[in-house]
Amino acid sequence: MVPPWVFIGAVAVLFPIFAFLTFQNINRERESSSRLLLEKGAALIRAFEAGTRTGMMGMHWSGFQLQRLLTETAQQPDIAYLLVTDPAGTILAHNDPSRIGQKHGEQIDFKRLFESDTVQWRVVGTGDGRKVFEVIRRFIPSSSGMAGHRGGMMFNRLFDAFFEAVPGKAPSGLAIFVGLDMSAVEEAVAADTRHTILMGVILLLIGFAGIILLFLVQNYHAAKTSLSRIKAFSDHVVEKMPIGLLTTDAAGKIGSLNPVGAALLGLERTASLGRTAHDILPRELSAFIFAPQSGHPMEKELECTLGTGEQIPLEVIASRLTTDQGDFLGHLVLIRDLREVQALKKEIARSHRMASVGRLAAGVAHEIRNPLSSIKGFATYFKERYREKPEDQQISGIMIQEVDRLNKVVGQLLDFARPVKIQKKRIKLKPFIEDSVKLIRRQAQEKGVAVEVRAAPEIEGHLDPDRISQVLLNLYLNALEAMEPGGRLFIAASKKNGSGDIEIKIHDTGVGINPEDLAHIFDPYFTTKAAGTGLGLAIVYNILEAHGSAIHVDSRPGKGTTITLVFFE
Ligand code: ADP
Ligand code: MG
Repeated sequence: MVPPWVFIGAVAVLFPIFAFLTFQNINRERESSSRLLLEKGAALIRAFEAGTRTGMMGMHWSGFQLQRLLTETAQQPDIAYLLVTDPAGTILAHNDPSRIGQKHGEQIDFKRLFESDTVQWRVVGTGDGRKVFEVIRRFIPSSSGMAGHRGGMMFNRLFDAFFEAVPGKAPSGLAIFVGLDMSAVEEAVAADTRHTILMGVILLLIGFAGIILLFLVQNYHAAKTSLSRIKAFSDHVVEKMPIGLLTTDAAGKIGSLNPVGAALLGLERTASLGRTAHDILPRELSAFIFAPQSGHPMEKELECTLGTGEQIPLEVIASRLTTDQGDFLGHLVLIRDLREVQALKKEIARSHRMASVGRLAAGVAHEIRNPLSSIKGFATYFKERYREKPEDQQISGIMIQEVDRLNKVVGQLLDFARPVKIQKKRIKLKPFIEDSVKLIRRQAQEKGVAVEVRAAPEIEGHLDPDRISQVLLNLYLNALEAMEPGGRLFIAASKKNGSGDIEIKIHDTGVGINPEDLAHIFDPYFTTKAAGTGLGLAIVYNILEAHGSAIHVDSRPGKGTTITLVFFE
């Protein structure tokens, strides 16, 4: 879990620190033990000097034995040896009398030693491998403090005399050497060193553990932040996804519901969370979700009844949520609104049906049209022939009328069935509408209906003029047919506020349309008129559809009808 570079890094950082500290500690240890030994040596020398003085003072010289004092002082523990030499390094007195006369301290600079009263020290090895800490100083049996003392002079004299007894030695100065056994100190230092190293290792381990802990904590934090980032992201995804999402827990309570899902099901989102799905979901949906099933996702189109009683088609995909071990966690449900899709499907089916009906109608219409012209020809012939028989002539007249009507119906049928091809042009609407009104001017006059056109001269439309005049004509005729004498037909073209879209309104003061008929007026062959074909508005619808335009009908029975055409820019 912890990468190897962390170990290497920790060692690289901690080890030099540890080594430096340990080294320094041991050094300090050595220094302080040296100082201790030095002080001990110096104290011994001072004590020995004092002993020498008292030994000589007020006593007979014969009573004073330097050699004996030396031997006795050297009896103290830790003293390896105690000796006095002359400046040439010849031993004058030694706790081991057999060494007297031998040389000692060849490396010592006696001249420097005699220049001051300071103590010098060094570590020397004895023959048997032990180490001795040697403290050296000028030997001053008579100090300045003794100068005024009674018998001081005598003391010096006696002392000198003592040394003179040693043949050929000038007592111009003496050096005293104290050898202190270092083994106890060495042992203590070794023990201390061991202790220091042990402490160091422990500290190293603690530091090491600390670094790893630090790394783990940092790792944990990084993992935690990235986890919360992932969670925020997935929450956002669920929140914003364009289809409804719903989950339930193992007990069938709603665990989550995104806004789209709540809107689709007509539920209050926060209030739904935690409630039993059975109680609040549409019956059909919960029956589907909780149906006994395998683990596979199931997909179905459902007609769901919402709480408001509204029925909406939904596409539902449901699957069981299980852990990797197979423990059941709840259900996951995706919901998609099918209203638009179904409306489109219906529309497509309708246009398919219309297309096939249209082809059939076109074929039939052609077959009818051909014999119609012969029938009309014969009828005209008989009308001429029975000029003197008014009854027969009248029958012939009706025949001609009916043939004309049939011809019109067939013509309209062909219009309706023919696929609409449009060629849009940019035209000024005012003159265009005025021209279209001319076609019905005579009929309007006969009916006693006033026609009014209102359009700003600059308004332009982007449309197929031939097809749209066909549309307008159909709408005018319907309006005229709906009105009694004294009615008003009002046509207006205007820009829809804000956009470049154009509106043409055709308003009449006719009988209006029954609300229950309103849904059917665009259906082919729907008519409420005895002589109607029911194809007029169906043709209008086809042409507008080909333009990508919209048509709105607003009608109040007994008051009138307004039909609005919208041409989008
Ligand atoms: P037709 O005119 O041959 O009846 P249409 O398709 O033109 O067929 O019209 C269908 C029906 O819609 C009409 O029969 C009529 O009932 C109704 N309708 C259409 N326009 C109007 C209108 N301006 N006023 C009242 N009813 C109308
Ligand atoms: Mg009509």
